[in-house]
Amino acid sequence: MAVRTIIEYPNPHLRNTSGPVTTFDDSLRELVADMFETMAAAEGIGLAAIQVDVPLQLIVVDVNEEEHPPVRLAAANPRIVLAEGKASIEEGCLSVPMSYRAAVQRYEHVVVEYQDENGADQTVDATGLAAICLQHEIDHLKGRLFIDHISSLKRGLYDKKLAKYNRYKKREEREQEMHR
Ligand SMILES: [Zn+2]
Repeated sequence: MAVRTIIEYPNPHLRNTSGPVTTFDDSLRELVADMFETMAAAEGIGLAAIQVDVPLQLIVVDVNEEEHPPVRLAAANPRIVLAEGKASIEEGCLSVPMSYRAAVQRYEHVVVEYQDENGADQTVDATGLAAICLQHEIDHLKGRLFIDHISSLKRGLYDKKLAKYNRYKKREEREQEMHR
């Protein structure tokens, strides 16, 4: 098991559409184990394979809320088969820098069909944070980020701030390089 590097917006790989998982072998199970470890190390509640630069329809989720039963799973080829109600919380993403958070409109309750890491068909019925997390992760498989759902005004402000932050980071790196 290993903690993998999480790629960050605006890395264009995050925009790729992930392909279906067709082989359920040891290397897939190793990827799942690595994703759980990477998510835990980053203190996240969900992670999609594309975030560790693997364009496969694979997500891991680990949500433990008091009001609802805990949801901890690895889901290959997840499909939302039922979605109802409305919910909105401030979301963040391990691939969206500066710990940016913004409210996104989601369904409150979803049922998702998927295959587990051994290829067996499974269904999860999720409400609240787990439902939101599943929708957020499934979005990643289509190359979508939560910041795509916010207003263009908010998004513009964020992009500007991030560009400034990245320029600053680059300058710091160059300076460190020069003093070596
Ligand atoms: Zn995310």
